[in-house]
Amino acid sequence: MIERLIYGLQNGKLVTIDDVQSGLSCGCVCPNCKSKLIAKKGNIREHHFAHINNNDCFWRGESLIHLKSKEIISNSRTIKLPKLIWSYNPEILIFDEVTITIDKVTLERKVNDFIPDIIIESKGRKLLIEIIYSHGVNNIKYRKIRKTDIPAIGINVKDIVNSLFKEKDYFFNSNKFKTELINSAKYKFWIYNPELIKLRKILKSKYAERHVIQTLKSNNVFFDDMIYSEYCPIAKRTWQSGILKGESYAKLYEDCENCKYYLGRDEYEIIGCNSGVVIDKKPAIYCIGHLGSPFDLDIRNVINKHKKKIRQNKS
Ligand code: SF4
Ligand SMILES: [Zn+2]
Repeated sequence: MIERLIYGLQNGKLVTIDDVQSGLSCGCVCPNCKSKLIAKKGNIREHHFAHINNNDCFWRGESLIHLKSKEIISNSRTIKLPKLIWSYNPEILIFDEVTITIDKVTLERKVNDFIPDIIIESKGRKLLIEIIYSHGVNNIKYRKIRKTDIPAIGINVKDIVNSLFKEKDYFFNSNKFKTELINSAKYKFWIYNPELIKLRKILKSKYAERHVIQTLKSNNVFFDDMIYSEYCPIAKRTWQSGILKGESYAKLYEDCENCKYYLGRDEYEIIGCNSGVVIDKKPAIYCIGHLGSPFDLDIRNVINKHKKKIRQNKS
């Protein structure tokens, strides 16, 4: 966790705690909420700024990290992309991690109704990059990205920064931040990839829709691990009690989203509550588990053919 505020604005210029005098005389305000800061540079705790009045502001340098990430990617000639996975168990790859060249970088330019952090062009193709700090990719953002139909990756910079801070590198002095952003795919993930969507479309002609339900805990609290597919053809789990006793089911996140037979689902949207069961507006996942083991070969064939096509298109 990032705990200490070490950046302040002094006469409109970004400074670090090391650059200023101790106390109120530092003359700094918070770069986020603009309220006055006091520089705490005692002998016991790590030097940091504290808000004098605004205790509600939790800003700890997010904008700066965004800026830094954009700067590093803009100045790089290459970037490594994460692997694109069809299923996790067993892992079926559509393609492995790959390093692409960067021919052009555009920052914060609107694409349809979405403003990505970074747009990269590589050999005539575009890629969107989202620098993810405190806010992940919610449904609204995902829909906007999907509408662009441009591949998009997310980089979880918060985890990179936290690992730097653990090593007391508060000012990105080491090369680690750059290395993780550019040469590694460890903190990157695909938000959207049209290849996966195309492949899903091919397979969707064979899918079955399985209803999704979400149950509530006693105090009306929702838990992600309590979203179920009502029937699972490969019997991931079996209800042990209640009216569904003996019937099969699967947990959406734990089972379905890691299952090779899973083709996706509609956006999850809760609209009503009836006796403790909350039902999704479009209560279905798309599953091909009922096609059984002979389909295992088919699914690989489809993926292989599709991969061949991608390769041909690229060359
Ligand atoms: S996607 Fe897999 S785990 Fe989920 S219901 Fe279908 S077969 Fe079961
Ligand atoms: Zn603030």
